[in-house]
Amino acid sequence: SDLSRLILDRIRDVPDYPKPGILFKDITPLLSDPEAFAAVTDELAGLHTVDKIVGIEARGFILAAPAAYRARAGFVPMRKKGKLPAETLDASYDLEYGSATIEVHRDAFAPGDRVLIVDDVLATGGTARAAVELVRRAGAEVVAVAVLMELAFLKGRERLDGVGLHSLVIV
Ligand code: 5GP
Repeated sequence: SDLSRLILDRIRDVPDYPKPGILFKDITPLLSDPEAFAAVTDELAGLHTVDKIVGIEARGFILAAPAAYRARAGFVPMRKKGKLPAETLDASYDLEYGSATIEVHRDAFAPGDRVLIVDDVLATGGTARAAVELVRRAGAEVVAVAVLMELAFLKGRERLDGVGLHSLVIV
């Protein structure tokens, strides 16, 4: 489609970042392009009617916040351990490189809130899976996960068992 072309043409492959052997998908050329950034924001905002859009630190914030504004949904940050000031829930997971813990405020959602989770890239799916778990433990309903780019060869989709996944491009 036009949107996938717009996205694919503006994602840069950076070899050996952040570690030797990793081919990193750099989304900054897409973010700095007004048409592409707007098209991606509009697409994410229009996927579902939701109460809250979760952004996963840090690149997920950049996509989720304007989408939430556009959709008139609330924005909820899911952050690396130790960054959120009030009481949190946390979940640990393995990354493509290393491991991590993410947190969300315990009171980030009203009971039964409909939630869309947004991140830039789905790799192994560990991050998105942990995000789904946290939203549910916080008492809300995960409507879907949306990512700009899915790295299909890492099979992250399989780790999201049952949760709807919207990938604006799949490579
Ligand atoms: P996963 O948990 O699915 O293995 O990794 C996804 C998380 O790591 C996302 O939060 C994403 O931002 C980051 N990530 C992993 N690989 C890449 C990549 O190649 N490019 C970008 N932009 N982020 C990546």
